[in-house]
Formats: sequence, structure tokens, C-alpha cells
Amino acid sequence: MEAGIKIRRATESRIAEVDFNNIPFGRVFSDHIFMADYDGQQWINMEICPLHKIALHPATMAWHYGQAIFEGMKASIDDEGNPLLFRPEDHAKRFNVSARRMCMPEFPVDVFVEALSKLILIDKAWIPPQEESALYIRPVMMATDEFVGVRSSDHFKMMVMCLPSGPYYSKPVSLLVEEKYVRACDGGVGEAKAAGNYGASLYPAKLAKQKGYDQVMWMDGREFKYVQEVGTMNIFFVIDGVVVTPNLSGTILKGITRDSLITLLREKGHTVEERPLSIEEIHLAYLDGKLQEVFGAGTAAVIANVDRIGYKGEDMILNPENFKLSPMLKSEINGIRKGRIEDKHHWIHPVYSEVLADIV
Ligand SMILES: *Cc1c(COP(=O)(O)O)cnc(C)c1O
Repeated sequence: MEAGIKIRRATESRIAEVDFNNIPFGRVFSDHIFMADYDGQQWINMEICPLHKIALHPATMAWHYGQAIFEGMKASIDDEGNPLLFRPEDHAKRFNVSARRMCMPEFPVDVFVEALSKLILIDKAWIPPQEESALYIRPVMMATDEFVGVRSSDHFKMMVMCLPSGPYYSKPVSLLVEEKYVRACDGGVGEAKAAGNYGASLYPAKLAKQKGYDQVMWMDGREFKYVQEVGTMNIFFVIDGVVVTPNLSGTILKGITRDSLITLLREKGHTVEERPLSIEEIHLAYLDGKLQEVFGAGTAAVIANVDRIGYKGEDMILNPENFKLSPMLKSEINGIRKGRIEDKHHWIHPVYSEVLADIV
């Protein structure tokens, strides 16, 4: 589909200001942004333009009532210099799953992929070439009616910005099992990448930090018994040679990294169980010496090894130097992302200049 995306280029690039060997995560933005507005009927004003600030009315509904969602994905560059998007259609579909749950308009998947392709082609120079680095892509949609009163907005703004990023969490992380606060509960919005989920997680995360842990390990909201996920990552355990990860129950974010890891593990002949997993089972496996690996999985970090889990006042200690599956998975995913390992599952969406001859 030719979506009629207008293109207005920056007259000068800011790229010379950036030290690509030392990029602070989340603070450096590429030259351009994609923007679109929903007018109550359809998406209009689709444009790739220089990144700029936007003025909004104080009654902009997203701020008052939290009707806002986002995505997080990555682009890399292959050895020939072609930008590659990782599973963009899956991210577009999940964006729409989040939109439906939050009573927001869907954004057409083909236009999403086209907009991102054009955006990363224009900002290709911002894609860091190193193996563990990438261009982090942040789509966001928010309610923009200027109205006080709880109802769904009619107007929305969608934006996609890009942030070059270096390796994230190079150090292993420590987790605290959360026994008071919940991230999501049955019937809630845990399966949506809804902005409010992250606001709600900040206070428990701060308390965990004060106790010396990097992130919270969330339990189910009913019994505080079953592991859900950690911070903004899905979680994997290797117990006595078997990989176990919590099943998607509606309260867990359906991670695309999670799905990629499960696919790769099964393809390589490993047993992966997706099932309810209690913290007691993990603790017993630890005491028996059978807890071999624990790692988080998400787009930003890809894989973050866990070296300590605080549970009922004691720590389970792991040594990531002994992990075998986690480093194998990390190099496999990074290899596929860089186009160095065969992409058997069609996860890579290459963006060749020829396809977009109109803009280069
Ligand atoms: C985004 C996110 C993940 C990871 O999803 P990916 O698609 O792998 O990036 C996991 N948990 C939460 C709560 C998230 O927001």
C-alpha cells in the first residue's frame, strides 16, 4: 500500500554530536520522527519530519486518563549497509492489540511497516553497526482530545521516534520477588503495552532498589505464588536441563523476544515448557542445585542474565559465567539481527534503498 507519507527532511543532521561508542540509553534521538493524527475517522497528516517538540493543551486526555500505548523494537544494519527491521509486523500487530484494549484506533500494519522502513532508511546513518548495538524504535499513541471527563478520546496522535543504543544491561541483574504489589491481574491490562502499567511499577521498583535489587520479579495478583515477569522483560529459568517460562495467561506481556527464544530453543532440540511456575518450585530447585540459569528477555536488553533473586529475606545466588543457553541464544539472536545467521523464520525485514527509490 502507498500510504501517502509526506517527507520533510532536516536541513542539518545532529549526528556529529553523538559518540557512537558511548551512547546513553534513552537520551539520544535520531534526526527524524514519524507522525500521524487520527481525526475520529481515519489516520491523516502522515509525515516523516525533523524531530521537534509539540505543543499540547493542558486538557490533553492522555495525561488525565492514561489512554496511551507504546511499542519497542529494533533496527540493525547488515554488513552490506542495508537496514534490517526485526519482526516489524509482529510489533505492529501487538500495537493494535494494545490499542483495542485501550479503546484506541488501530494503525494499519502495512502502513506501520512502510512508515518505519522509510524512517530508518532516512536515518540509516543513526543505526550503530556494532554487534550488540541497534537503533531502538519507539512508536507511541496517545489520546489528544482537549476534554475533561472520563470517556474515550476521538482524536489521537501516533509518533515513532528512533534512538541509537549500545549494549543494554551488560552486567547481570538482581531481582526481588515482589510480595505486596502487583503489575497486572486477571481481566486487567497486563497484556497491553499501556503507559499506565509502567507508572504503576515505579514505586515497587524504587522500594526494590532501596533494598539493593535492580528490578522486581512480579508474582500473580491472586495468590502471589506464580512468577509472571520481571521489570519490562519476560523471564526464563533452566531447571535440571529443561527451559521453563511462565505461560501467557493474559497478565503477561506477550514478548516477541520471548517468542523468538522459545522458537530457537525448540529448533535446537531443547525442551521448553510454558506453564505456571511457582516461586516455591524455583526455590526448591535452587536448594537441590538444579536451578542452572535465569535470564530476562526483552527487545531492549535482548537477554539479561540474573545473578541474584531475593526471596523471603534470603538470596538465591547464580553464576552467569556458568550459563550455557543464555549466551548461545544471545549470539544467535544478534547474529540473525545482523544478517550473519540464516533467518529461517522470516523475522528480518530488509529495507533496500531501491524499494524506496522515491526518497533516496
Ligand atoms: C515490552 C515488554 C516485554 C518484552 O517484550 P519484547 O517484545 O520482547 O520487547 C516484556 N514485559 C513487559 C512488561 C514489556 O513491557
